[in-house]
Amino acid sequence: TAEKPALLITGGAGFIGSNFVLYMVEKYPSYQIVNLDKLTYAGALDNLAPVERRANYHFVKGDIADEQVVSQLFSDFDIHGVIHLAAESHVDRSIKDAKQFVETNLLGTTVLLQAAKQDWEKKGVLSERRFHQVSTDEIYGSLGSTGKFTEETPYAPRNPYSASKAGANLLVNSFAHTYGMNTIISSCSNNYGPRQHREKLIPTIIFKALSLEPIPIYGDGENIRDWIYVEDHVQALDLIFHHGRRLETYNVGGNNERTNIDIATTVCHILDELHPELLARSGKKSFQDLITYTADRQGHDRRYAVDDSKIRTALGWQPQTDFQQGIRQTVAWYLEAMEAVPRSTNA
Ligand code: NAD
Repeated sequence: TAEKPALLITGGAGFIGSNFVLYMVEKYPSYQIVNLDKLTYAGALDNLAPVERRANYHFVKGDIADEQVVSQLFSDFDIHGVIHLAAESHVDRSIKDAKQFVETNLLGTTVLLQAAKQDWEKKGVLSERRFHQVSTDEIYGSLGSTGKFTEETPYAPRNPYSASKAGANLLVNSFAHTYGMNTIISSCSNNYGPRQHREKLIPTIIFKALSLEPIPIYGDGENIRDWIYVEDHVQALDLIFHHGRRLETYNVGGNNERTNIDIATTVCHILDELHPELLARSGKKSFQDLITYTADRQGHDRRYAVDDSKIRTALGWQPQTDFQQGIRQTVAWYLEAMEAVPRSTNA
């Protein structure tokens, strides 16, 4: 296994991770792509079916916080870079119980950093090989109705998930300053697209609508997020990992601010077109009539928006996917996935 350079991708069975692994395995046959994932409730090997038999793809089931597993990986493969996506990622779960977020997002990141440092120091390549921390715009806190987060915006996380991600970023930077590691951080806005766990907003809207159940929307539905198609984020990750500058942060966004209620009505209108017979049977005029406002999330951040001019100027990146096109592709993907899985196990 050691003859080709390997890239370690953590969390590759999750939403963004699986989209990233599929892209990297295809694009870089010269790398061994090693996917370390614990397969928590959020990870699914089905996401990776198209690459599971590829010679340059290796799956390892394990916990990033398990020192033995991680150090074994560094001895089994010649790891030339780490792109670290594994995380507990759902804000609502972090509000119910923060501990697992600290274990995975803080302790797990530290274990990875230490293993990479040890291996790369031993090989005399500490300042060359790259550790890329995949982060979120939520670390910057909440915005009012104007302004955007830049890379200089101070961290001000307001829920346990974003606090654990901000802490992880600080640890990553500390390994660069203390030991001279080659680290880099990307902070991305809300992703949408295929392979997202059904607990998240867009899959929830689709599944609830098609079950003719109330579609829950927090508070007044006016919370704003900047939505980016996952494939655009994946391309940004590839570019940042390969061409970004050491110790820098790059914000990645979709330049696409939308309220939650706007997202819900857009998805419902697409479903109205794609599922007219179910709509007719339900006796409703639109799936939109299923939208129900629920008690707001505790400490719900009002608005996130990122200024991504740095990655546009420095690395020539820009999102390729128009929102109307991306959201249609996304809805179509979930409909197909639902047909592939028997209704009872999909519930
Ligand atoms: P996800 O929850 O869909 O996937 C997380 C993956 O990590 C899962 O496959 C899970 O099994 C794995 N995992 C969890 N704990 C682990 C552990 N201890 N050891 C090994 N594997 C473990 O998350 P996602 O939405 O794909 O997000 C991926 C990364 O991108 C996260 O770091 C997240 O903070 C960041 N991010 C997400 C978004 C977004 O909109 N989804 C936006 C910006 C940044």
